Amino acid sequence: MATPLTDQEKRKQISIRGIVGVENVAELKKSFNRHLHFTLVKDRNIATPRDYYFALAHTVRDHLVGRWIRTQQFYYEADPKRVYYLSLEFYMGRTLQNTMINLGLQNFIENRSSCFLDSMATLGLAAYGYGIRYEYGIFNQKIRDGWQVEEADDWLRHGNPWEKARPEYMLDGSKWVDTQVVLAMPYDTPIPGYMNNTVNTMRLWSARAPNDFNLRDFNVGDYIQAVLDRNLAENISRVLYPNDNFFEGKELRLKQEYFVVAATLQDIIRRFKTTKKGTPGRTSFESFPDKVAIQLNDTHPAMAIPELMRIFVDIEKLDWDTAWDLTRRTFAYTNHTVLPEALERWPVELLETLLPRHLQIIYQINQSHLDRISALFPNNIDKLRKMSLIEEDGCKRVNMAHLCIVGSHAVNGVAEIHSNIIKTEVFRDFSELEPEKFQNKTNGITPRRWLLLCNPGLAELIAEVIGEDYVKDLGQLEKLNDFVDDAAFIRDVSKVKQDNKLKFAQYLENEYRVKINPSSMFDVHVKRIHEYKRQLLNCLHIITMYNRIRKNPTAPFVPRTVIIGGKAAPGYHMAKMIIKLITSVGEVVNNDPVVGNKLKVIFLENYRVSLAEKVIPATDLSEQISTAGTEASGTGNMKFMLNGALTIGTMDGANVEMAEEAGEENLFIFGMRVEDVAELDKKGYDAMSYYKKIPELKEVMDQITSGFFSPKNPELFKDLTNMLFKYDRFKVFADFEAYMKCQEKVSKLYQNPTEWTKMVIKNIAATGKFSSDRTITEYATEVWGVKPTDLKIPPPNEPRESIKNHKPT
Ligand SMILES: *Cc1c(COP(=O)(O)O)cnc(C)c1O
Repeated sequence: MATPLTDQEKRKQISIRGIVGVENVAELKKSFNRHLHFTLVKDRNIATPRDYYFALAHTVRDHLVGRWIRTQQFYYEADPKRVYYLSLEFYMGRTLQNTMINLGLQNFIENRSSCFLDSMATLGLAAYGYGIRYEYGIFNQKIRDGWQVEEADDWLRHGNPWEKARPEYMLDGSKWVDTQVVLAMPYDTPIPGYMNNTVNTMRLWSARAPNDFNLRDFNVGDYIQAVLDRNLAENISRVLYPNDNFFEGKELRLKQEYFVVAATLQDIIRRFKTTKKGTPGRTSFESFPDKVAIQLNDTHPAMAIPELMRIFVDIEKLDWDTAWDLTRRTFAYTNHTVLPEALERWPVELLETLLPRHLQIIYQINQSHLDRISALFPNNIDKLRKMSLIEEDGCKRVNMAHLCIVGSHAVNGVAEIHSNIIKTEVFRDFSELEPEKFQNKTNGITPRRWLLLCNPGLAELIAEVIGEDYVKDLGQLEKLNDFVDDAAFIRDVSKVKQDNKLKFAQYLENEYRVKINPSSMFDVHVKRIHEYKRQLLNCLHIITMYNRIRKNPTAPFVPRTVIIGGKAAPGYHMAKMIIKLITSVGEVVNNDPVVGNKLKVIFLENYRVSLAEKVIPATDLSEQISTAGTEASGTGNMKFMLNGALTIGTMDGANVEMAEEAGEENLFIFGMRVEDVAELDKKGYDAMSYYKKIPELKEVMDQITSGFFSPKNPELFKDLTNMLFKYDRFKVFADFEAYMKCQEKVSKLYQNPTEWTKMVIKNIAATGKFSSDRTITEYATEVWGVKPTDLKIPPPNEPRESIKNHKPT
């Protein structure tokens, strides 16, 4: 047998096989050298690692181009129904520092959208992602003295080898009433499917001032000032709003939302018209919903509904009822959260000044909507008030979720439990009115990025026992159930995990000079920092373990490395205090000689996709501990499960379905269920009663309150403790006891490596449902009315008579 491949070689091989296709290696080398020389203008003596990465990226891109053009030609010819995925959260991550290792590929920061694009291309759908090309993406997080500090993410500084600007397709981005025209410049990025010759397009818009910007107004005047003022227009695509599950209501954000909508709809209509061959003269829009599906990722692109109505009625001169029928049949809406502070409610006053015609249209939509409700529920003012698109209490606002529900033919949540909450609570009146509209589409993740690329060792091991087909059909993982008792397979699975842990420990040592114990349990809690995700509950557990060790230093203890990471929204005070508490506890625990190697607390700086790819494969225990009813689905939970971590979690979001798939006995499920939370709300949650009743909780809280972890500033955490005692919406104390007990069960099982790994294998075998291929197949058939793999794109080197006279679409 040949020497086994290193991870790096496996990754490279899989990347090349999967994304580029099997190409001549000598050709690849030549192309690489050509790019280093001509594109980057470097020789090997002075080339930096980034130059090598860019040369490689250009080489890979070259190999996509043929397929990319071919795919788009094919769509133009076959004219299938197009699927448009609109999101304010597409974001290409920084180009990677490290050369060969990351052979590739788009590195997105936002989880939900990128998996879907991958799956849409893999399933051969004629799909497009549309969004904004932010000049500054999600900030980089630095930890200074234990506090989060934000830095701008200047990700375009060195250029982006994946994108292609298309200035020739520049469009009007918007005409604000109070300012001038803003142009939208498209940047296209190829989205390759897995081994199927399909390359779809993600088109991101960048705001540009027209060359005559402000010059007509200022004609006699200030040319210099007019050029400087171009920034006003171009600021629209400057920066991604970093809020997570929070609606801020800023004017610039509304401009962003309308900007992407205005440019995208023009593009969609143009494509619809150009692919309608043989119909000269006035376009018929009758077939529009048969040719176009638009998926609204959250309410952020909701202005697309009044915008399409405006185009149909004002420009294309359709009558209102026809336009409304077409519009509703075109749109579908995905809800992503039930937290009230996250729901978008734009002030009428702001819409009045910025988008008065759209406001008129919204009013008219609301009028017919309310007329219908009045007819069905006569004299029911309360019903009208609850279902109106316009909220009248306090400042008048447009409820964007209501607009999306009324303007779509399908509305979905992202996990069973979440979709049920939507139907029975948040949008109950709407689901009673149109029950057939409400659906569930449980989220998923792409096994290409979240197994093949990030964990080649495990991917390869699985392929050895069940073959490679599982990559495109993740349900096949259930075949692993035959190997649960296979001693060799158990040994190999645990070896892969141990290798990943060693590698991650090495990474921490190189980058941060922190040493961790690689034989300890890696207990990982990485996701955005938010009260509802309850990093605080984890923190209370850490302190409890610490107190137990100090009280009984010689008692047996299952060593743990607790790794917590995530960004706090810059304006979210409580989330930033949570980070400071974690780092402060780490400071004390990590430097206490009594603790030694038993317990370490690491705050993982700047958690992002590229770091997720490193830490998730190295994780033993995945923390998914949100208050039941608050996490819509989660996707982190699925990534960990696929990578051989066990889950400690509440019955929330997709955890419920993970437990259903793997069997509840194969997860560490604890705490209140949704019903228990509702009951506790009814009787009133009294944090103090738990504090008085549970000695270990009392001790922990007394330590935080008295400044045990902040000796220089004993008052430091008083906002935080005050919240926990007096107004904790997420009921941390109510789950404290159950969580501690459950963690003891985790430690106990970890002492038996064979039993632990058997449970790991059962979990991996049960992960099939959580492929985004399954999610997208459901959207395709149940929402968009298209069939996956309807279209087979031929390979680029195989001439096809029928593709000629190509017009770009
Ligand atoms: C998957 C992912 C998330 C989502 O994690 P949840 O646990 O579902 O909140 C967030 N950030 C990054 C970088 C991710 O990769």
